[in-house]
Amino acid sequence: MTDEKDNDRYPGIDRTNDRPVYVVGGGPGGLAAAAALRERGVRAVVLEKSESVGASWRLHYDRLHLHTTRRLSALPGLPMPRSFGRWVSRDDLVRYLEKYAEFHELEVVTGVEVSRIEPAGSDWLLHATGGRELTGRAVVVATGYNHTPHLPDWPGRDTYTGGLLHAGDYRNPVPYAGKDVLVVGVGNTGAEIAVDLVEGGAARVRLAVRTVPHIVRRSTAGWPAQRTGVLVRRLPVPLVDKAGDLMCRIAVPDLTEQGLPRPDTGLYSRVEQGAIPVQDVGLIDAVRTGRVEPVAALDAFDDGKAVLADGTRISPDAVIAATGYRRGLEGVVGHLGVLDERGRPVVRGGRTPEQAPGLYFTGFTNPISGMLREMAIDARKIAKALS
Ligand SMILES: Cc1cc2nc3c(=O)[nH]c(=O)nc-3n(C[C@H](O)[C@H](O)[C@H](O)COP(=O)(O)OP(=O)(O)OC[C@H]3O[C@@H](n4cnc5c(N)ncnc54)[C@H](O)[C@@H]3O)c2cc1C
Repeated sequence: MTDEKDNDRYPGIDRTNDRPVYVVGGGPGGLAAAAALRERGVRAVVLEKSESVGASWRLHYDRLHLHTTRRLSALPGLPMPRSFGRWVSRDDLVRYLEKYAEFHELEVVTGVEVSRIEPAGSDWLLHATGGRELTGRAVVVATGYNHTPHLPDWPGRDTYTGGLLHAGDYRNPVPYAGKDVLVVGVGNTGAEIAVDLVEGGAARVRLAVRTVPHIVRRSTAGWPAQRTGVLVRRLPVPLVDKAGDLMCRIAVPDLTEQGLPRPDTGLYSRVEQGAIPVQDVGLIDAVRTGRVEPVAALDAFDDGKAVLADGTRISPDAVIAATGYRRGLEGVVGHLGVLDERGRPVVRGGRTPEQAPGLYFTGFTNPISGMLREMAIDARKIAKALS
């Protein structure tokens, strides 16, 4: 994918500059930023630790489709083909990312992991695989919001002899046919895996819930939930909370009797705290019909059993922890004082931290309007700021 010569599409690109902008991470965020930079004639080199672009997407579970629409998920300068349908599959998204890098003739160097970034005068020095030291005039960090799988250190975890895995390692329901499975966590991933297990023939599926989620229909009468997210994004939180509550009451049946009461906090207040609503891809029906059983949160393991927050002890054959990810930025930029207490960059998009001019971040929020859409917007802002 590395291209050393100028071409007709980007006649203004400056390849003589030996200090390119380095983009760390070849996922959608990094590729979008590199393409937007290139469009403005700024040389950008993407450093990707795995062997190909879109590495995260290659590892997601088989049935995954975007919850955001094809149109609102495309990256700058290349629409997704109509043949992908409205809800793009995992494999099609990977195809799109490969095509995207090729179409924009991005310089992508694979197999290079950046371990530390530090200032070097007005430039930036990147320490990378194999003792490489690379100097860039700026850096865009796009290493992913879902970087490091987080598996809680439940007391007694070692006593559990069933299969315990993080959702990031789940592929499909085949190994769980006929099994009793506990899915822990009811974000979008946990909700979808629970449904996948039911449809794939698991004997029993329980879903451990600590905080009841807001559940919204992916689309209502053809109107995608994401579009509502885009429209309300800048409105006052209490107003959106009220509207969201009403929308949920109309569109989603009351599942209190089945163990999933309505949340008592506002939908948008929760988004502000980092929890986006669960988009229904079958959970409502599965809970309503008893095929997915909500249970109390998982607190510990004891003597090989799973101990729930209400004291119940159960013995599932397998536990799938849909317990989220960490940003994993501490080692790379933690020493620069650019992270908040939750390990997220203090600024993002076209702005850089005051003490670290030239250090950009993209993809570190989880907005109600869709992360892909937001990264496309950030890419343009970063490119504008850097050109
Ligand atoms: C299951 C799931 C479903 C999602 N569905 C949607 C959806 O429907 N719509 C939507 O808008 N968003 C969705 N998202 C959120 C988001 O769009 C994706 O996570 C997206 O892949 C984020 O892109 P990214 O480039 O920021 O990170 P990633 O795709 O994670 O890419 C980061 C890249 O950086 C590389 N990397 C990491 N560390 C280093 C390093 N130190 N040096 C070099 N390379 C490094 C990784 O190998 C990876 O290729 C979903 C997320 C998940 C987990």
